[in-house]
Amino acid sequence: MAHDLLIRNVRPMGGPLTDLFIRAGRFAEAAGMSGTEEIDAEGHVALPGLVEAHTHLDKTLIGMPWYQNTTGPTRGERILADRKAKRELAIDAGRQAARQIRQTLAFGVTHIRSHVDVDTEIGIANVEGVAAIRDRFKGIVDVQIVAFPQSGMLVRDGTLALMDEAMKAGADLVGGIDPATIERNPVEHLDAIFELADRHAKPIDIHLHEPGALGAFCLELITERTRALGMQGRVMVSHAYCLGMLDPAVQGALIEAMAAEKIAVMSAGSPAAPALPLQRLRRAGVVVASGSDGIQGIWEPWGRGDMLERAKILAQRNGLTRDVDLAEMADICTFGGAAALGLGDYGFAPGCKGDLVLVAAGGLAEAVALTPLNRTVIRGGRILVRDGIVREDFAPIE
Ligand SMILES: [Zn+2]
Repeated sequence: MAHDLLIRNVRPMGGPLTDLFIRAGRFAEAAGMSGTEEIDAEGHVALPGLVEAHTHLDKTLIGMPWYQNTTGPTRGERILADRKAKRELAIDAGRQAARQIRQTLAFGVTHIRSHVDVDTEIGIANVEGVAAIRDRFKGIVDVQIVAFPQSGMLVRDGTLALMDEAMKAGADLVGGIDPATIERNPVEHLDAIFELADRHAKPIDIHLHEPGALGAFCLELITERTRALGMQGRVMVSHAYCLGMLDPAVQGALIEAMAAEKIAVMSAGSPAAPALPLQRLRRAGVVVASGSDGIQGIWEPWGRGDMLERAKILAQRNGLTRDVDLAEMADICTFGGAAALGLGDYGFAPGCKGDLVLVAAGGLAEAVALTPLNRTVIRGGRILVRDGIVREDFAPIE
């Protein structure tokens, strides 16, 4: 259905005041347009729909009783606790996905990439549950599903076959996890996920928490396989903490190799993890995206899924305070995410999809620093959220 909408007095990406016109769902020249539905943006900043490039929709506990976290500090202990909680709390992956999608839509998130667990206890049930919700929210909030072997793949017999099933059941990407520390066999793990991705003609998004030289070695293996299979532009490494732990020469060589193979990087800016050289990566031509990771879940008790707040967290984690740097963090949470997720026609140019979020600020840095709420969210010319209130007909309460 065509949607025409004129948005007056608006600052796209915090720039000068202008009008924006959406015709038949896409931005068009605004000059001389009138006589259509219009809203006054009151000088607010417009960003294109915010991009959540890394979360775990199937495991948020939004709307459920408080989860008492008594988990030990190691990743292995936390993985055990994760499986136990999924079993005991009987988390409905689809329902929880819908709750997070609705919550983050109110902040202006229009695109989400979610890792979704595949393991020998739940099988592919979570992928099926989130896939049904993905299809229901298409065009409202678009979701990409990464089949994710949270508990390990090679170390748990039967998981690789389930990953294949998950791809057949509609997962959009192949996931992977710490090839050395969890899988104990980086070459075999990476060979297996790249083979799976190649066979299903799908991209890869791998969790890589491994530190220092070990992480760097895994990154080299990922780069080699990306090149060998011609998967440039179709591989993202999530977290990649090692990039923030290497001496500058080693770091530089790795970054150059990643840029050459068009491997994207996702950083959540976690306060407990090494800060990534975000600006160095970008200057070298690496696409950088960001995400909330899990919100209100078994792994972390906090998080709201607001990608403007995430831009602020990235700035804080990297010690950035200048306006131009805050604006760059907003770019990571919009255009960076869009490039990493392969979204087409993204932005404010004529012909791009008519998606935007209005934020009550006079410029980008102010929007990032103060993260004002009560936002208005528009997709394809349709107003989905007005002053922070999600329209029920687009995103019913679960
Ligand atoms: Zn994650």
